[in-house]
Parts: sequence; structure tokens; C-alpha cells
Amino acid sequence: MYAAAFSARRVRAFHLFPKPIRTFVACNMGSNPTVSDNKVINLSTVTKGDLETVITSWGHPRFRADQVWNWIRDKGVTNLEEMNNIPKKLRQQLAEYSKPTSLELASELRSKDGTIKRAYRCYDGQLIESVLMPYEDGRYTACISSQAGCAQGCVFCATGQMGFSRQLTSDEIFEQVARFAAELQHEDVVHETKSKQHGRSNRLSNVVFMGMGEPLANYRHVSTAINRITQELGIGARKITVSTVGIVPNIRKLTTDPNMPQVRLAVSLHCATDEERDVLLPANSRYGGLDELMGCLREYIEVTGRRVTLEWALIAGENDTPETARKLARLIQKSRLRKDMVHVNVIPLNPTGGFGGNPSDRKRVNDFVNTLEKEFGIACTPRVRRGIDIDAGCGQLKSKVLEKESQEKRLKGIVMDDATSESKMMIGKEFTYDSAINIEEEDFEDPEFEDESSKAESVRLLNLVKATTIDLTKLDSQ
Ligand code: SF4
Repeated sequence: MYAAAFSARRVRAFHLFPKPIRTFVACNMGSNPTVSDNKVINLSTVTKGDLETVITSWGHPRFRADQVWNWIRDKGVTNLEEMNNIPKKLRQQLAEYSKPTSLELASELRSKDGTIKRAYRCYDGQLIESVLMPYEDGRYTACISSQAGCAQGCVFCATGQMGFSRQLTSDEIFEQVARFAAELQHEDVVHETKSKQHGRSNRLSNVVFMGMGEPLANYRHVSTAINRITQELGIGARKITVSTVGIVPNIRKLTTDPNMPQVRLAVSLHCATDEERDVLLPANSRYGGLDELMGCLREYIEVTGRRVTLEWALIAGENDTPETARKLARLIQKSRLRKDMVHVNVIPLNPTGGFGGNPSDRKRVNDFVNTLEKEFGIACTPRVRRGIDIDAGCGQLKSKVLEKESQEKRLKGIVMDDATSESKMMIGKEFTYDSAINIEEEDFEDPEFEDESSKAESVRLLNLVKATTIDLTKLDSQ
């Protein structure tokens, strides 16, 4: 009797979804590796469609899903006890099958300049980093990770020095942003900005993919997460920057992809000749060198009409002389990139343990900027390093957490070979290019993503409903 009634409700729930929503949901949840455990609903990342499916399948009216959604998204509340207009039974059911987050806070550092840096532990022990940077006018920028580790091997980068572990799912990427957005609404992480003093609210306004990993080597999940950030958190695509080391095939894909919102593109250039760039960024030679890269940026500008940012980490005595600035200007001219469509961002290097380079001083930064602007008319902005007192550069906090855990294990006499934590996976792991090749080739093909069908979505939703009913009878009989 109960089964029949439930089944009817379940079928009804499916027909509530128009096709576009169903397809969209599939992109988000189909890849979630946590879906097999009992806590299948992650309240920080669940879509409204999935929430409705589950809640109506439990026999509650659809407006209850709207109410829960209102708590989660509009008020930034994931603590079920605080949801005081939700019936106790529904809160019990949600408690049984949901968790407030899938990213456990492993470490947090706060800088004098208000920057907050976090290391999160994922469901499988992987550590990833997110940074929140406040600005005087009340805006906040979230700098987020797209992969656990990175296969690109840029020699100056702490993440590159660790090697690659795995792709982040779209949920894990989205949650990094959603957590900061929700906490800012709650003012949990508020920095004393001028806007706050003047009574204006603080809000998450910008997102940059400049944390751990190469976002264009995880194209599918990054694209899905960006769609959710724009649609569910209301952050405009032009406020989102995807920063790449120069994965040429996926820059081309992004140029014409109708499913990718119109995000800003930033390219980590750092050198103006192949000879120098091959040394600092091994990915350079793999994607055909600077000719290929600059050619595809020209196509990007012509097709999209959007400006490209060229990033330049200034390393004292290496790539920070006026002569190097002239080489960069000539490269831009030779590649026929329109000057008004290019912007150069320079920032002194964030030093890391595995690389001997030092940040350029203020005079060298100014000389570099002046050479580009005054001699060539190319816009160039010096950026301030944020959170330098807390090692906010990508990969640095993760290294510290791993180091601390390793020390603790040694003190406790635990032999590393017996450990199952990420410390075991990361320590002594060497970067190999084979892994990088496999990841990206997989992303270029991506047949599963292209062929996502409503049939697959129905199966996924059925599984979701099934997974949230396993112990429901027990709950009812209590
Ligand atoms: S700079 Fe970016 S692309 Fe290069 S190794 Fe670090 S995370 Fe990867």
C-alpha cells in the first residue's frame, strides 16, 4: 500500500520538471561521487530541481521545497534546526539523507589585509584551497580551485610542484563559491570594509579560477560549475575569470562553446620567448609554443569581441627588465593582437619553497609597467599581492597542512606506508606528463557530456529518489 502510494508520488514528481531543468541537473549530480553514500543530498550544492524531486517524493507539497531552498540559497542557512518554518518530520527526513557540506574545513588563515585562505578536505581526503579577498567598497572576490593538484608543472608554483591527484567535480567547484557567498550573507566572514562601516552590505561579486589546478584541463566540470554560479548565485559571467596556462585546444573550445557563459579569459604568459617559457611552463611546448597560443588568442578576440588578460608574474632579474617588457610588446604586435583588446596584469612572484626566484621590487615593477604603457600604449596594471603574510599563493597552505599532518604522524610513530590519507599519496609523488596527457585528451572528447539525454536524467533522478527512501519506512514507523 505504502509502496504503491509512494510510487505514484514519485512518478508525479518527475513530470514536474521541464526538460531544460532536467538536463541541467544531470550535469551537476551525475558526476557527484558522494551520491552512493546515505547522505546523498549536499545542502550547500543541491539544485532546486533535486530538492523538489526528493521532498515531493516524500509526500510533502512542493512549496516545502521552496521554503527549504529559501533557507539554503537566500539566507545561507544549512543548519536544519534553524529552519523554523519547516515541519519536524521533514527536517528529520532531511537530517537522515543530507549533509550541510561535502568540503570539510581543514585549515583557515586570515591575513592582515583581510584575505582569508582555506584548505578544504574533500570526501576522499584530497586537500584543495580557496581564498576570499575583500575590497574597500564591499566587494569580495573568491579565488577557487578546479583540480586537486595540477599536472601542468609550472616550476614556480607550489601546486605544480606537488603533481596532479584528480579532477574536482562540478559540485566541489561550485561549493567553494557557494560557501563564501552564503557566509557573506550571514556575515560570518566579514572584514571591516569601508562599505560595512557605511552600512552597505558585503557581497561576493567576482570569482577567479586561479586556485589549484588548470581549469581548462577540467573543462566539463568547470563549465557546469560556472553555469550554476551565474544562474544560482547571480554572479554575472563577466565577473568570472578563467585563468589558463594556455591549453590551446580548450581555449578554442571555449571560444565557440554555446554552453559556456561569457566569462573573462586570462592567460598566464610570464615569458615572451619559447626558449624561456618552455623552462618556466612546461605546458608551453606541449601546445605548440607561443605561435599557437597567440594565434588562438587572436581568434578568441575576433570571434568573441572580448578582451584577453595576459598575466605576468615578475621574477627579480629574470623577466622583469624593460627589455623583457619590449619583447612582450613586440610579441603582441607580431601576433596581431589588437592593443585595445589586450590587458597585461603584472604581479610580483609569490615565492615558493621549490623555486629559487624572488619577487621584483617596486621600482622594477614600475619600470616594466611604464615601458609597456608609455613606449607601446599597451594597458598594464600592477597588482598587489594579497595575503602575503599567510602564504596565500596557490598550493602553499595545502603544503603546510600536509607537512603538519606528516609531522604529527611521525610523532605518533605511524609509518607512512600504512597511512591511507592523502599525505601518503602526495609525499614523494612525482609529476609525470603522462597523467597530464590523459586528462586533457579525455576532456577534448567528452562524449558523455555532449550526449547527455533526458533518459539518462530520468534514471539519475530515479536513483536519487530510491537512495533517499531506503530507510524512510524505518523513520515512519518510529
Ligand atoms: S600555475 Fe596553475 S597551471 Fe601552473 S602548475 Fe600552478 S596551478 Fe597548475
